[in-house]
Amino acid sequence: MRSLFAALLIPLLWVAPAGAWGRVTVSDEAELARKFQLLIESRFAVVEDTVIQDAVQRIVDRLLSVMPPQPFPVQVRVVEHPSPNAFASAGGQITVFTGLIAHMESEDELAGVLAHELAHVSERHVAQAIERSQYLSVGALIGMLAGAFLGASGKAQTGEALMMGSAAGAGALAFQYSRDNEHAADQLGFAFLVDAGFEPAAMPRAFGRMRRLQWLGGGGGVPSYLSTHPALEERMVALEERVARLPQHIQRHKADSKNFTLLQTLVRAQFGQPETAQAVFRAKEKADSCLAALGQGIAAARLHQNAEAEAALRSAMACPGVRGIAARELGRLWLSLGQTAQARRLLQEAQSAMPQDVSTQVLLSQAHADEGNAALALELLQPALKRFPRSPQLWQLASRLEAALGRESAAHIASARAFAVMRRWEKAAWHRDRAASLARTPAEREALSRLDAELEDLHSLWRQLS
Ligand SMILES: [Zn+2]
Repeated sequence: MRSLFAALLIPLLWVAPAGAWGRVTVSDEAELARKFQLLIESRFAVVEDTVIQDAVQRIVDRLLSVMPPQPFPVQVRVVEHPSPNAFASAGGQITVFTGLIAHMESEDELAGVLAHELAHVSERHVAQAIERSQYLSVGALIGMLAGAFLGASGKAQTGEALMMGSAAGAGALAFQYSRDNEHAADQLGFAFLVDAGFEPAAMPRAFGRMRRLQWLGGGGGVPSYLSTHPALEERMVALEERVARLPQHIQRHKADSKNFTLLQTLVRAQFGQPETAQAVFRAKEKADSCLAALGQGIAAARLHQNAEAEAALRSAMACPGVRGIAARELGRLWLSLGQTAQARRLLQEAQSAMPQDVSTQVLLSQAHADEGNAALALELLQPALKRFPRSPQLWQLASRLEAALGRESAAHIASARAFAVMRRWEKAAWHRDRAASLARTPAEREALSRLDAELEDLHSLWRQLS
């Protein structure tokens, strides 16, 4: 959706000699996608709550079910950022900001934005844009996408987060999906939205909402170059005309609100201003007391209002629909207060309610770690390490557990990964060397060579960017 508004920036710094890049093949784009994924995962705080990730993925899957087979597996990733945006980058990857989820009014609106992005993916508009600018090398392309999509945002560690922005400021020219691309993404996305049974009018309404929010500076941190797209008005009118031509019964389609309201509650409670979130949930108590209590509890815990948080989460636990999540959040609170045994029992309850929830497994792993049960803790951590492979916190916990089990080489490998994600190369190298000197078994040496490949990958990516 970024594409709706953005004059995307190509830092001139990265422009390579002509002829380095011809036709963009699917495998070129897959490689670009892999690198871009690394970049997103190391620049943004990926939301490590699988209830949130899965809820958004379900909406995408529903849209995918009416789409033709795609050249890439489509992967959606929710990252923590307040601006109301989403964007499709190379190779079937869609990044959704928490600000978008917080500001949409229904699942249909969120689906409208996602359908537009999915249309960019299925038409391979990124590849087309790349082909139009033939003088770019692969490194330049990564830089271009990074500058365009990640511009002046990223994790709140300003200095480094602004790297792209400042490089872009050194001299930039506009790159954007062409007007034709945007129009095609609207028209095709609209068809996906309608075929998947969502409310058709939600797409132009979502665009209007995003534009208003950007005018208001809503969500905060919206870069100034995110000016409104001049053709947007026209595009919204075109979509509204298509809505009007649909039969009444199709116009009245609406998604079930349950998935979305839970998703939005979790996003607002975990990532919104906690004081604002509390006020919002207080106002919603009558409409849905269960979700309001869950949201209140999470927001109160963030404000260290522990008694209030506990009361709210306990009352949410009485609701069948959110019992597991409320137990998880109360478990998280107790864990943070050092009440480990109590926390573990609650988290076990959460786990039996939501056996697939990776976030519960991580908390339970922490509880077992605190209780000295390292083997079980490490086992519980494995799905999370697979799902969120660029999480420094998860690798730090893994390192501590490997050390507790006496596996020194593996502990240093995990630490090296944690530091590499944070781009603290010297620390990463130090741990890598310690791991090498301690590696005895073939399995340990194999783990080391996997680490070396990953470090080289990450390092070369950042070299291309700086
Ligand atoms: Zn677009």
